[in-house]
Amino acid sequence: MAPPDPILGVSEAFRADTDVKKLNLGVGAYRTEELQPYVLDVVKKAENLMLERGENKEYLAIEGLAAFNKATAELLFGADNPVIKQQRVATVQGLSGTGSLRLAAAFIERYFPGAQVLISSPTWGNHKNIFNDARVPWSEYRYYDPKTVGLDFEGMISDIKAAPEGSFILLHGCAHNPTGIDPTPEQWEKISDVIQEKNHIPFFDVAYQGFASGSLDADASSVRLFAARGMELFIAQSYSKNLGLYAERIGAINVVCSSADAAARVKSQLKRIARPMYSNPSCSRLSAKDKSGKDWSFILKQIGMFSFTGLNKTQSENMTNKWHVYLTKDGRISLAGLSLAKCEYLADAIIDSYH
Ligand code: PMP
Repeated sequence: MAPPDPILGVSEAFRADTDVKKLNLGVGAYRTEELQPYVLDVVKKAENLMLERGENKEYLAIEGLAAFNKATAELLFGADNPVIKQQRVATVQGLSGTGSLRLAAAFIERYFPGAQVLISSPTWGNHKNIFNDARVPWSEYRYYDPKTVGLDFEGMISDIKAAPEGSFILLHGCAHNPTGIDPTPEQWEKISDVIQEKNHIPFFDVAYQGFASGSLDADASSVRLFAARGMELFIAQSYSKNLGLYAERIGAINVVCSSADAAARVKSQLKRIARPMYSNPSCSRLSAKDKSGKDWSFILKQIGMFSFTGLNKTQSENMTNKWHVYLTKDGRISLAGLSLAKCEYLADAIIDSYH
């Protein structure tokens, strides 16, 4: 029997719980105040338009919908970016963020034999599975410092420096999951210096564009900084969160190359990997209550949809077993799963579990 998934397994346990007080803060998905799934107005509008137009169900191309690929690359880099103008980006529509990461992992395994990927410690739980299944070796770089509940910048830099030349460095474009702690613009500059010095290849996971600052452009500034330096880089994109399209599986893999010719060749190889894996992607539908004095203010400072509460495994288990509050065992809660009405209850559960 395989063990339940650390994130989606939490949703399974939640569905099985019959207690009326139950609250699911495991999976990152937005809810209404009534704790029902939330569909964005813009998505409803687009769906109505599509119904009116009576779109067909033909296969997409292996690389996906051309209009989507153009729009997704432009959203990421900005339409005027030289990498777009010079046609240096190979974009292939993937099966959301996960599928796009997995496609890139297969590409790395095939064309960069022996290269390792460095991932942040901690990171989104599925990253390790993705690289394991693609048989790409990975190791971790220091990221979260529990002493400051902040970024271990020195540790991060020295681990990236120490990695063998030509390693892939997996970076979260913005709103780091699960910590909610991002490098500052100055720190991004230093990170790109070290990556460039070591001939590493940056590999961005962009699952929250627009969620960190509220600006799609500002949230892509990390990626754009690396592209502006003329580096070759990989970027996986997901529209699960910022368009609330969790079930649709909409995303892309972009590879910024040194020339338009290299981009065309990379794209052809990505398609070659995608074809036997899943053939072609899904049709894109896009045209202070605690008396102990503990400082909980970091919850407000962390950005994105998650809060890394600092609750350990036993405390997280108490949250679920006693309070029916579901979260991942690393203490991460999805604030998007919370309603105003449930805040008091959650605070009681956290205080009880923490002390
Ligand atoms: N990367 C990160 C960091 C994520 O948090 C997520 C979603 N939890 C994903 C990728 C991919 O999600 P999806 O496959 O639904 O696009």
